[in-house]
Formats: sequence, C-alpha cells, structure tokens
Amino acid sequence: MAQTLGLVLVTGSNRGIGLGLVKRFLELPNPPKWIFATTREIPLRGRELQKDVSESPVLSVDVTDPNSIKAAAQKVEEHVQGHGLNLLINNAGILRVTTMENENAETMGIVYLTNTVGPLLVSQEFLPLLKKAAQQSTQTGLSCSKAAILNMSSTTGSIEVVPVWEFRKIPSYRCSKAALNMVTKCLSLEYKDCGILCTSIHPGWVKTRMGTEAALQTVEETTKAILKMLSTFSEKENGSFIGWDGQIYPW
Ligand code: NDP
Repeated sequence: MAQTLGLVLVTGSNRGIGLGLVKRFLELPNPPKWIFATTREIPLRGRELQKDVSESPVLSVDVTDPNSIKAAAQKVEEHVQGHGLNLLINNAGILRVTTMENENAETMGIVYLTNTVGPLLVSQEFLPLLKKAAQQSTQTGLSCSKAAILNMSSTTGSIEVVPVWEFRKIPSYRCSKAALNMVTKCLSLEYKDCGILCTSIHPGWVKTRMGTEAALQTVEETTKAILKMLSTFSEKENGSFIGWDGQIYPW
C-alpha cells in the first residue's frame, strides 16, 4: 500500500477470502495499526481465528443481526480511542444452491438478508467511524487508505453478463449480488462528499467452501491481487464494479 492504513475491518473473516484478506494485511511491510477480523460465532470459531491473526482483536459480527453489528462498532470505537475506520470490507456472504424450480421465499430471504441487507447495515453502523477517518486524513480525493467501503460482490450478479448460467442457476445468490451492487452505487453517491469511497469487488472464482475445490484461483492469489489493486483506487473507482484482475465489469 502506498499509504499506510490505520484501521481495517473485514466481515466473515474466520475462513475463505475474508481470512485470506486479514492474513495479507498482516503480511504487509507496514501492516495496519488495527485489523479487526470478525466471525459470527466467537466461541466456536474465534479461538482458531485468534491464532491466525495473533495480536489483532477478533470481534463477533453476524451481519444478519443488527445488535451484533452495533456491539462490534462500539467495541471498535472503544479500542481505537478517537481514531476512525479507514477500510470496511463487507466480505461475509452465503450461497444456496438453488434452481428456478426450487427457489423459494425462505432461501430468497436469507440470502438477501445476508448478502445485501447485511453490508448495508454494517456500513450504516460504521459510518461515523469512516467519516471520522476521512476527516482525520490529510489526503485529498478518495482512497482506501483514507476511508472506504468494499463490498464483496460477484459477476454472477451482473445482469449484462449472467455468467455460468448453464453451470448454476442460483437465482437468490445472483439477485442478492445484483442488489448489493446497487447498495454500492447508492453508498458511493451519498458519501463521496464525506470523503468515503465505495466499490464492488468481484474476487474471481476462488477455492473456498463457497467456491469449491473446482475453482480456478487460490485464496492467496486472489487476496494478494485485491490488496495490490485496492491501493490504487481513487475517485475513478468510486461506485464501480471491479474484478480482482483490475477489470471493470458491467453491472
Ligand atoms: P466462504 O463460504 O468460504 O466464507 C464465507 C464467510 O462468510 C465465512 O466466514 C462465513 O462465516 C461468513 N458468513 C456467512 N454468513 C454470515 C453472517 N450472517 N454473518 C457473518 N458472517 C457470515 O465464502 P468465500 O470466502 O468464498 O466468499 C467470501 C465473499 O466472496 C462472499 O461474499 C462471496 O459471495 C464472494 N464471492 C466468492 C466467490 C468464490 O469463488 N469463492 C466468487 C464470487 C464472490 P461462518 O464460518 O460462520 O459460516
């Protein structure tokens, strides 16, 4: 990163891409002062995660539970004592393998709640800390080292491309990511004047529990590329949809 980050928080970082991102941040020559890894179940997964992230605090965040998001924001505020949050990565997400025939209100609901409503609620709750980081920064313009929200999206949510249709229909997942992209656009329009950048990221097809072993990229490849890329983001990338490879994807 060209500029050193002060405070980073990644949702859903007990495994998969989220954990990879936290590890990559910790490996930077100048790692952020605070990296908050989060997991929805501290008693189950927190201890393991704490080993991975050593000194960094692990917080409990279930993105479908407004109380847990509020409590996490309060803990971060207490911990950082007057500092703002530079980078929020809304990474937590779920996928239900569904078809056009068996998709139903329950799967549509839980996937939308987790992948679309969750990132919006988390962003709202951390907004005061993001604004504070933007105000405290001496940098002009927008950047991830000043104040930014990155939403982990997917090209499967692209209405123009609709990739891998024959492979997996997954309508609830596609709809949730298409809607998440609109959340990104709305956040980017509303908060750019406060100095906060917001972008949707497509991480590629990655070998995780969600991506499966058949995926093309490893978590390490993807997360290294994302970290390199996000250090280059400026106004130009605000409100856009960018792949791990730096490509701009159609909505
Ligand atoms: P994984 O299934 O490996 O990990 C998902 C993470 O999200 C886990 O940490 C999980 O926690 C967490 N999570 C799920 N529900 C909640 C919740 N309600 N509150 C908090 N955390 C939650 O997925 P990936 O790492 O592959 O995916 C990360 C992101 O990247 C997702 O948003 C996904 O949609 C996106 N993505 C992934 C692709 C891929 O190929 N892997 C492709 C395109 C996009 P727990 O362990 O508790 O379940």
